[in-house]
Amino acid sequence: MSLDPEDEAEFRAAAHAALDAMLDGITSGTRGPVWRRMPDEVRGSFAAPLPREGRPFADVAADFHARVAPFTAGNRHPRFFGWVQGGGTAVGALAEMLAAGLNANLGGRDQAPVEVERQIVRWARTLFRFPEQASGIVVSGTSLANFMAVHVAKTKALGPESRRLGLGNARLVAYTSVAAHNCVERAFELTGLGSSALRRIPTDTEHRLDRAALEQTIAEDRAAGFTPFMLIGTAGTVDVGAVDELSALAQLARREQLWFHVDGAFGALAVLSPELAPLVAGIELADSIAFDFHKWLQVPYDAAFLLVRDGEAHRNAFASEAQYLSRATRGLAAGTPWFTDFGPELSRGFRALKVWFTLETFGIDRLGQTIAETCRLARLLAERVRREPQLELVCEPQLNIVCFRYKGVESGELVIKLQESGLVAPSSTRIAGESVIRAAIVNHRTTEADIEALIEAVLELARSGDSMD
Ligand SMILES: *Cc1c(COP(=O)(O)O)cnc(C)c1O
Repeated sequence: MSLDPEDEAEFRAAAHAALDAMLDGITSGTRGPVWRRMPDEVRGSFAAPLPREGRPFADVAADFHARVAPFTAGNRHPRFFGWVQGGGTAVGALAEMLAAGLNANLGGRDQAPVEVERQIVRWARTLFRFPEQASGIVVSGTSLANFMAVHVAKTKALGPESRRLGLGNARLVAYTSVAAHNCVERAFELTGLGSSALRRIPTDTEHRLDRAALEQTIAEDRAAGFTPFMLIGTAGTVDVGAVDELSALAQLARREQLWFHVDGAFGALAVLSPELAPLVAGIELADSIAFDFHKWLQVPYDAAFLLVRDGEAHRNAFASEAQYLSRATRGLAAGTPWFTDFGPELSRGFRALKVWFTLETFGIDRLGQTIAETCRLARLLAERVRREPQLELVCEPQLNIVCFRYKGVESGELVIKLQESGLVAPSSTRIAGESVIRAAIVNHRTTEADIEALIEAVLELARSGDSMD
């Protein structure tokens, strides 16, 4: 009844062809249209019923290449500027395949894959100058990492018995800026604290959390009988790439005895570039940092990380004490602590391998250079916008995000037209209530020519829209 291939030679031929097609796909996915809407018959084809009988792997693979591969969101493409998404690499894709071949379950146990993830933890400590006692874990995304950080901070504030007793009548409150990612709010919903326990502090003129407003709100909350327990700063806001004043926030958090968490989804990895690292100075003072490998590090989706200064607090928030104490000291079930003691999942895939391959293959110097290059291109784009009389720069790029608009043209509609043209794919957002074109430069493949293509497409489509009105 085994599911292994019956005809090994035939399967290998199909497997090698699939690998070649994947590599070809990465090349072709970086050319041609950035995105195209899938035809109705393709979309409809996914309504086919559950297969009772199988068919040859080669048929299924051919189907994948016809119906799935051509219709992705386009984030491998150098002219994809939408949201903040990584471009992926062939190296990362191969690592993902090798990880699947091992079928390793990284919940724990005495095995080399666990050591690979532990090495990622050590490297993360080094990058952010965290102490030896700091813990970390590879997770699916910064959304999950932020959620886990809120749970750890809450458990630290209320004590581990709160895991059994719940929130009781604790009146915990936390602080973040209005520019924080909406997953932070969701973290408060999911942990049972409620999103009203998250105070949204206004931003200053540079889109950073306004510290005076923060201090005032904390004082008001204390006076009203609330218990402030957490402060969440952002390194690289999703709208404009702003970085909160992390050193000052860290000091304030220490003074007020708040857990200081940094959502550094993409911005945290500015530490890889000597040129950009000063922009996130103070991040090394955080109690915890959440960041993505799948954005600026170009690791294929999905992979992110949670780093926690107080490893004990981290473990106390997730480990189940009974299981923890009964772990074997020898044999396959040895190797305490297990990764399952640091997160909500028991079975876990080997996401760490594609991170490991990425770091080992490219090295942090080169990865830092690709990150710095995206910021240089963002400054170049801002410069180009300033030179076009029809365009208006809405905010200076602090990292790799540029927001601008075409005067007199509604940005939301223009962005849809740009996406539908297949030429370039920015996204839109609202800044101070006004819709703007947002270009996030994340992809390691993006060049100056792609920036020029974006400017030209915006000018051309905005003008053609003008004449249609
Ligand atoms: C992308 C992003 C997130 C969410 O991260 P995921 O990996 O998509 O879950 C959170 N915060 C910021 C600032 C982001 O840019």
